[in-house]
Amino acid sequence: MEQELRQLQAEAETKLATLDNPKDLEEIRVRYLGRKGLFTTLLRQLGQVSAEDRPRLGKLANEIKEALEQKFNARKAELAASVAGADRQRDDLSLPGRLVPFGRLHPVTQIMDEVCSIFVDLGFAVAEGPDVELDYYNFEALNIPQHHPARDMHDTFYINDSILLRTHTSPMQIRAMEIEKPPLRIIAPGKVYRCDSDITHTPMFHQVEGFLVDRKVSFADLKGVLTVFCQKMFDQEDIRLRFRPSFFPFTEPSAEVDIGCVICRGEGCRVCKQTGWLEILGAGMIDPEVFKMVDYDPEEFSGFAFGLGMERIAMLKYGIDDIRLFYENDLRFLKQF
Ligand SMILES: [Zn+2]
Repeated sequence: MEQELRQLQAEAETKLATLDNPKDLEEIRVRYLGRKGLFTTLLRQLGQVSAEDRPRLGKLANEIKEALEQKFNARKAELAASVAGADRQRDDLSLPGRLVPFGRLHPVTQIMDEVCSIFVDLGFAVAEGPDVELDYYNFEALNIPQHHPARDMHDTFYINDSILLRTHTSPMQIRAMEIEKPPLRIIAPGKVYRCDSDITHTPMFHQVEGFLVDRKVSFADLKGVLTVFCQKMFDQEDIRLRFRPSFFPFTEPSAEVDIGCVICRGEGCRVCKQTGWLEILGAGMIDPEVFKMVDYDPEEFSGFAFGLGMERIAMLKYGIDDIRLFYENDLRFLKQF
């Protein structure tokens, strides 16, 4: 028995010394030390040796087993180190480095940054609010009560009766006015959600809401601010603006604002459908009912608000005719901006 043990040890050690890869090492480990390995099989026979020899042989067997395990581990580390060394040798250090492709900002993000920076230059502060909004801020406090027909204009994603994905960034008007007293000049950029999808609508899009509240704010101030914005945004000093009467529940009076077509400069083209005008945003004077919701005195304060769609502006600025291109993640499209 003792002789057999020593023979197994010698055999295993010879094989360990001559093998040269981790795969062979593992095979030999299983063959000798595995649960069904030669060593384990031999140990099972310990029960058959005489009671007198058993303790000595048991001790010897354990010592040999431990010594072998240590040698296996040492050899394993050695092999791993030499494999890594070989890999290093294969590297050709004279090769030029591989270029890491640079990422870039999405065109909608670029437009949003540009819009925000124009308004920041005009003295507006930037405020951000939650995408998941309370019905109260999205509708109720903006003068759109439960059964108001204006809710039909919004195809809303409801989470439950009182929580929804905001359909516009206008809730930030209320959130800001609840916290601060006038004068206020704020823009609120962010994502908004509506159940709508075609070549000019996506279920998620980006909006920048802007509003200003102070004493004696007039419609002329609104026109002035929007005119300067459009001049800078479309880089046209002589850009023309047109205000058409419209309706929004939280502004009175309200207007849809058009700019002279930036593609044909008013001559008439496919983008402006031969009208020479492009609809660009909605705006108006903040409704006194909204002021009452936040405890502002409508006799003392007045203000204006406007909302711009970022995708719409990007489409006009770059002449893109399908909004879905922004969200298909096609690098050939995105790399152009
Ligand atoms: Zn045109």
